[in-house]
Amino acid sequence: MNKSTRIIHSIPVDELTGSISVPIYQTATYVQEAPGVNKGYDYARTNNPTRAALEKIIAELEGGTHGFAFATGLAAIDAILKTLKSGDEIVAVDDIYGGAYRLFTHIYQKFGIGIHYVDTTDASNVAAYLNKNTKLVWLESPTNPTLKISDIKTISDLAHKAGALVVIDNTFATPIAQNPLELGADYVMHSGTKYLGGHSDLLAGLVVVKDEKLAEELKFIQNSSGGVLGPQDCFLVIRGIETVALRVERQCENAVKVADFLASHPDVDHVNFPGLKSHKNHEIAKAQQNGLFGGMISFSLKNDTEEAALAFVTSTKYFKLAESLGGVKSLLCHPSQMTHKSVPREKRLASGINDSLIRLSVGIEAAEDLISDLDQAFGKV
Ligand SMILES: *Cc1c(COP(=O)(O)O)cnc(C)c1O
Repeated sequence: MNKSTRIIHSIPVDELTGSISVPIYQTATYVQEAPGVNKGYDYARTNNPTRAALEKIIAELEGGTHGFAFATGLAAIDAILKTLKSGDEIVAVDDIYGGAYRLFTHIYQKFGIGIHYVDTTDASNVAAYLNKNTKLVWLESPTNPTLKISDIKTISDLAHKAGALVVIDNTFATPIAQNPLELGADYVMHSGTKYLGGHSDLLAGLVVVKDEKLAEELKFIQNSSGGVLGPQDCFLVIRGIETVALRVERQCENAVKVADFLASHPDVDHVNFPGLKSHKNHEIAKAQQNGLFGGMISFSLKNDTEEAALAFVTSTKYFKLAESLGGVKSLLCHPSQMTHKSVPREKRLASGINDSLIRLSVGIEAAEDLISDLDQAFGKV
């Protein structure tokens, strides 16, 4: 079955009424016939039918067996980290999402979790850090914001040989372009705030696994820590998922055109976009992303100063200056002063986030309008 068809028909029709949209069960508790005798639901932190529907849909979209919905992407990351104990180590991609960096370094490190940030674009760099304490290899591919690509299958094989599990933050690729569980990863997570919600109107986090034991552990953590997604937002994410294939295909098409424009612009120093042949791991991206390269682009200016970047990002009309990404409206941001401010400058520079780096989240507008918007902004630098 075609993926678009599968997505639409993974969304269940309500068994009780036939409602074609998933009902919002706005309740905290469920009436029981006798203690412990219930219809499978006892308390809404533990289970909620609207959330259960979303969890089933995302599991199906990612080719897993169990999905879990959390209040935010970071709550989803936090739940995975809670499977670790003091003394365990993580090998993580070096230009990891800034919020994940903050959580790993400033919260989990003090509980005795060791973190190694590594350039994972070469699988051999990962191998060098794997040891008996390594419990997780944490990848984003493409990464945020430099769009680095890592070979998920090769790294998963290496990690498994060393007894570690692999997490892929699949937020940028989306399940339309990439299904990490099928490439060998053990956990796939999403900030549902981005492409899955798709309209910049909610926060959500999702995790999918394909292993019964991991699923049990996550269910226990989700219920024990309680960072669940509320039923209204579960409904909105489901509504977003109904159009995710259409939106992402359009965003990917637009991004290819915008990246080509930037790559040939005289004021641009370099463009990070996995769809360009010049990208270091273009061939890997092509193979593991279904021929779709995503809607995210970053680029730096020949005039590599913060001032030039700030002039650019405050001069666009259609690209709105905002954090976040993946919505129908195009956004742009300046990572070193916005999303990645919490990462020390020398670490930023080492991972390719230079002072003039600008990140674009390409929306569903017409590509020619987006290009002319960027074109006039170069004139303001
Ligand atoms: C936004 C984002 C997150 C965090 O998600 P929230 O919903 O904002 O908590 C994690 N990873 C990536 C790649 C993101 O873009």
